[in-house]
Amino acid sequence: MLRLPWFDYRAPRTVAEAAKILAGEGPEAMLVAGGTDLFPNMKRGQQAARTLISLRGVAELKTANGKFGSGLTLTDVVRHEKTPAALRQAAAQVATPQLQNMATLGGNLCLDTRCNYWDQSFEWRQSIDFCLKRDGETCWVAPGSSRCWAVASSDTAPVLCAIGAEVTLVSVDGERRIPVRELFRDDGIEYLNKRSNEILTSIHVPAQDGSWRASYRKLRRRESFDFPVLGVAAAARIVDGVVTDARIFVTGAGSRPHDASAAAAVLVGKRVDDRDAVAEAADRAARIAKPLDNTDFALGWRKEMARHHVTAALADLA
Ligand SMILES: Cc1cc2nc3c(=O)[nH]c(=O)nc-3n(C[C@H](O)[C@H](O)[C@H](O)COP(=O)(O)OP(=O)(O)OC[C@H]3O[C@@H](n4cnc5c(N)ncnc54)[C@H](O)[C@@H]3O)c2cc1C
Ligand code: SF4
Repeated sequence: MLRLPWFDYRAPRTVAEAAKILAGEGPEAMLVAGGTDLFPNMKRGQQAARTLISLRGVAELKTANGKFGSGLTLTDVVRHEKTPAALRQAAAQVATPQLQNMATLGGNLCLDTRCNYWDQSFEWRQSIDFCLKRDGETCWVAPGSSRCWAVASSDTAPVLCAIGAEVTLVSVDGERRIPVRELFRDDGIEYLNKRSNEILTSIHVPAQDGSWRASYRKLRRRESFDFPVLGVAAAARIVDGVVTDARIFVTGAGSRPHDASAAAAVLVGKRVDDRDAVAEAADRAARIAKPLDNTDFALGWRKEMARHHVTAALADLA
């Protein structure tokens, strides 16, 4: 049986209190929300913390008045009447219903990156002398590489990027608001543009004026359970059946959700159901999102599926 290591547990009641504890404890402290990613990772020795600061008792993170509190569970997000359809689609496909009851939207955005050589027990990783992400010196996916290529695996992140959502980050130094697409870095180790003393407090979804449509398509081995090995979010503004703006974000194919919106540009000025334009956009997006051989399924097949999933997500918009 895998056991959790010992740690101190703090349970603040307000964001201000949590931020103060986080600043005081320094980099050896970590935030925990639902714990559905962090606790398994701690049991496998992938992540470690001397102190865990739980956000579960912070009521202000669970409100949904004009913005989504980061402490809302994915079940809350799925059930909330103001949740955009594509976000609901993505949240409803995270893990299993039991995990969605515990897992939070904030935790989903801050989810660790994943890799076949990383998501293993301590002993398994020790047997290969670990890897660059922690305790080792070699990246086993790209041995000549000086960086880690572990992949972004959050289902809600590509959707929130595509629909132009923003997040608020709070620390003892103050508050800042950034687009969700700027929250992520192209680095499997330092994958968030978030300072270690910052708490993600809320997610701001732009008002729906009716002209934007969005969709999410996910590839995984077991439909009832698994992380995405590919996730495609597409969003477009459609006026009288014609696309006036479009965005595509692909997850599971790099250390952050890939912005493939340049591919979506071929749709602008075309009817949303123009099959040639959709095929061209899908081809271009699949070329931009180049998966590596470090998750489930054969690499060549995943590349082919990227084209199919972009086509399907764009077809949903019509
Ligand atoms: C079997 C299984 C299947 C899974 N399948 C999927 C899947 O299909 N798709 C998917 O996206 N995920 C999946 N997950 C991962 C996880 O369940 C979800 O990503 C979940 O949303 C994480 O949220 P949490 O609240 O449990 O995060 P936690 O585990 O509490 O935290 C995750 C990370 O976020 C940080 N964090 C949490 N909240 C905040 C905050 N407010 N501010 C700053 N940092 C914060 C933590 O410090 C930690 O680093 C799966 C997990 C399991 C065990
Ligand atoms: S991509 Fe390389 S460094 Fe990163 S987790 Fe995988 S093997 Fe380790």
